[in-house]
Amino acid sequence: MTLHRNIRTTAEYQAIDAAHHWHPFTDTKDLNAKGARVIVKAEGVWLTDSEGARILDGMAGLWCVNVGYGREEIVEAVARQMRELPYYNTFFQCTHPAAAEFAEALCAQAPAHMNRVFFTNSGSEANDTVFRLARVYWDCMGKPSKKIFIARRNGYHGSTVAAASLGGMAPMHAQSGLPIEGVRHIGQPYWFGEGRDSGMTPEEFGLARARELEAMIDELGADNVCAFVAEPIQGAGGVVIPPDSYWPEIQRICRERDILLVADEVICGFGRTGAWWGSETFGIEPDLMPIAKGMTSGYQPMGGVLISDRVAGPVIDKAGEFFHGFTYSGHPAAAAAGLANLRIMQEERLVERAARIAAPRLAQVWRALADHPLVGEARCRGLVGALELVRSKPDMARFPEHVGAGALCRDLSVRNGLVMRAVGDTMIIAPPLVISEDEIDELGARARRTLDDLAERLEREGAL
Ligand SMILES: *Cc1c(COP(=O)(O)O)cnc(C)c1O
Repeated sequence: MTLHRNIRTTAEYQAIDAAHHWHPFTDTKDLNAKGARVIVKAEGVWLTDSEGARILDGMAGLWCVNVGYGREEIVEAVARQMRELPYYNTFFQCTHPAAAEFAEALCAQAPAHMNRVFFTNSGSEANDTVFRLARVYWDCMGKPSKKIFIARRNGYHGSTVAAASLGGMAPMHAQSGLPIEGVRHIGQPYWFGEGRDSGMTPEEFGLARARELEAMIDELGADNVCAFVAEPIQGAGGVVIPPDSYWPEIQRICRERDILLVADEVICGFGRTGAWWGSETFGIEPDLMPIAKGMTSGYQPMGGVLISDRVAGPVIDKAGEFFHGFTYSGHPAAAAAGLANLRIMQEERLVERAARIAAPRLAQVWRALADHPLVGEARCRGLVGALELVRSKPDMARFPEHVGAGALCRDLSVRNGLVMRAVGDTMIIAPPLVISEDEIDELGARARRTLDDLAERLEREGAL
């Protein structure tokens, strides 16, 4: 059998893709007019497109390829697993070595109070699982009225109906009539975007945003509130790094009002923030942690929920059957990829290395971009960062929306051989944890060149 792949031209791939492949989170008409970029291979932190261009992947795919591309250990582990047992379910009173071993290894790496994992195929399904499990927990505690979830505007928890409802993405809600019943949203701790004009310091603003949770719980009645769900650092919302005052206050409120704390670690988990878990970086102790992305470094699709002893105990004891799961929960090939990925991270001490070497270098290189006339703020934590594009620095004025400065910056960046993502006019990066110091310098140089190109282009168009 021959598989005919990578033998057509770029134009041919773009044509068949435009005709038949409907992309996620994409304006199809717009994409098809331009043609999709065709990525054909990758190694380390470098992508190669079908025209032979080498591009530094500043986004680790979609925040997931933490160990970098081309890790033979993972490829081998998956191939071996697929030869031995490509599939078996975990519904019918069965398990298999891959799922059991990965569960053991994951829980050993998880915070000490978390000793169980429920496997899903994605981060969205992980948040759907939270939605079901947290409600079952309160039923088991004899408090069935505790049903409402509180989450945040501009949070992202995935794209299924429940996950998108927990998320606070206004365009997603508007397009599909979300959120579903039982979900409420409070403000986000986004200092640059929403706090600067408040007259508060960042720390005061962080406290004020946290106390919106307290106010909402009190309005709804703690007896009706199930859980608070939030990302330690918001990713898709534009790498919103909360002021240090924020998370301890959230933790206090959740404890005092007796609601569950759910830290969505889909991006922050597996080393992104310079510790194994975002919760560790911010010193909190969540009751549930949805995970995905870095869980397999994207080599196989997989997600899950890490479950605290507090939640697991009563549910296992009292709920009977948990009527929830997926055909591919704990899929052997995905579990094998996850275990190999975890072993690489542990043996190469990638999280410690990221914290000690890569993060300080990135902080230096990235924050230096703040002196650029178009940059209002350059922030980062661990290996995730954001730049706020502004039109004029003294008053931090933004560009009018029709200029599309962020999207333009993103396109110029790829032309300069660097993948940055645009969230409105916020440019974001989250490179693989294995990025070298030289590659970080290169990332910074390409980002600066891109900002210069952007300034030139906007000037020419009269937008500056
Ligand atoms: C990506 C993401 C999700 C959704 O994960 P999928 O695998 O795309 O379903 C959920 N939460 C956060 C924080 C994410 O970044």
